[in-house]
Amino acid sequence: MKITKIETFVCNARMRNWIFVKVLTDQPGLYGWGEATLEWHTRGVLGSIQDLEPLLIGEDPTRVEYLWQIMYRQHFWHGNGITRATAISGIDIALWDIVGKVHGVPCHRLWGGPVRDYVRLYSHLGGGKMEDFYETTPSDASRFADLAQKAVADGFTAFKTMAVPETAPLEGLKPIKYAEACVRAMRDAVGDDIDIMVDCHARPSPRMGHLFAKALEPYGLYWFEEPCWPEVTEDIASIQRSVTTPIATGERLSGVHAFRDLLEKRACSVIQPDLTHCGGLSEGRKIAALAESYRVSMAPHNPQGPVSTAASIEFGFATPSYIICEAVHRDVPWRQDIVAEGFEIDRKGRLVRPNSRPGLGIEINEKEILKHPFEQELPQRSFYADGSVGDW
Ligand SMILES: [Mg+2]
Repeated sequence: MKITKIETFVCNARMRNWIFVKVLTDQPGLYGWGEATLEWHTRGVLGSIQDLEPLLIGEDPTRVEYLWQIMYRQHFWHGNGITRATAISGIDIALWDIVGKVHGVPCHRLWGGPVRDYVRLYSHLGGGKMEDFYETTPSDASRFADLAQKAVADGFTAFKTMAVPETAPLEGLKPIKYAEACVRAMRDAVGDDIDIMVDCHARPSPRMGHLFAKALEPYGLYWFEEPCWPEVTEDIASIQRSVTTPIATGERLSGVHAFRDLLEKRACSVIQPDLTHCGGLSEGRKIAALAESYRVSMAPHNPQGPVSTAASIEFGFATPSYIICEAVHRDVPWRQDIVAEGFEIDRKGRLVRPNSRPGLGIEINEKEILKHPFEQELPQRSFYADGSVGDW
C-alpha cells in the first residue's frame, strides 16, 4: 500500500477557513481525512503541505510514526514554525484515519479501546452570528447571564466565556470589577452545578492576569485559561501557584518538548494542545502520556472544523486524562452539510457516545465545500486607549 497524493480543500467558515487534508492511496476507495486549519495563515499551511508531499509519496500510510519522524526531522527544520507544525498535524490525523479504515475499527480502538462511556462537551457563550460568537465580549453582566442560561437550556453543563476585558499592561480597578461582575452574574444565573470557564486569550500582562485570577477565585471556575502573555512559562506558573482556580493553557504550543517545559514548571492544571497544531494525534498521544505522569488533565483546544472535532473525540475515548471537549456547533450553518459524523450526541446532557465507524468515522462532502471558497479572514486588531498595540 502506498500514498499516491495529498489533496487539500479550503472551506470558508467565516472567522476562519477550514483546511481539510485528504491523503490518497493506491488502494481503491482508501483515503484519510485530516485537518490543518490555521486562521490568518491558510496560504502558508497549504504551501507547507505541498512542501511535505514529496517526502510521503510512495510511502506506506500505515507507518504513521515513521512518517511523522520523516515529516518532523527531515528537510532540516525539525518541524519548526506553526504553519509546518499544522501541516504535519493535518497529515498525521489523515494517516490515523487510514489506519483505522485498514483495520475496520475506530481510531480509539487502535489505541487500547475506550477508557470512558462518553465524552463531555462544553459550549461557548454565543450564537451563530459573528458578532456574538465567543471571541466577542458581550457588553455587560446581564448579557453574560442571559447567554449562560441559554447554554444550560441547550443542555450544556459547562461553558466558556471571555469575561475578562482587554487591558493595557497595567490598569486600575475598573476592568477587574467588570470581570468580577460578569462572572458573578453568570454564577448567580446558573448556580453551582454548572461549570464555568473564563478564557483570557493570553491578553493580560502577567500582573493583570494575576489580579483577574485573584478577583475571580471566589466564583469556583472550572478553569481560568491563558491568564497572561504566553511567552514566559514562569509567569503562568506564578498565577497557578497564587490561586486555587485551575489554570489551563497550551493551545499555542506544538511538540512534546514545549509541553514538557509547561509541566516541569507546574504552570497549569489543564493542558490544551490543539491536535491540528501540536503535531497531530501522534504527538498528542505523547503529550498525553507526559501529562499523565504529572497528573495534569487534558482538554484539547478545538475551535476548528469538523475533522478536528472527530479527532479530538477519538482521542478523548482513548486518553484517561481527557476531561472535556470544546464544542463548536453554531459557527456556520453549513457545518453539518460538510460532514457526516460517526459519533452521536446526547442533546440533553451534551455528551458524546463513541463512534463505531472505522477511523475517525467521518465523511466530508467535497461538493459542499466548493460552495464556500476561501475568504480572507477579517483583521482582528486591538489597540489600547493610548493607541499602542494590544493583543487580540
Ligand atoms: Mg483559548
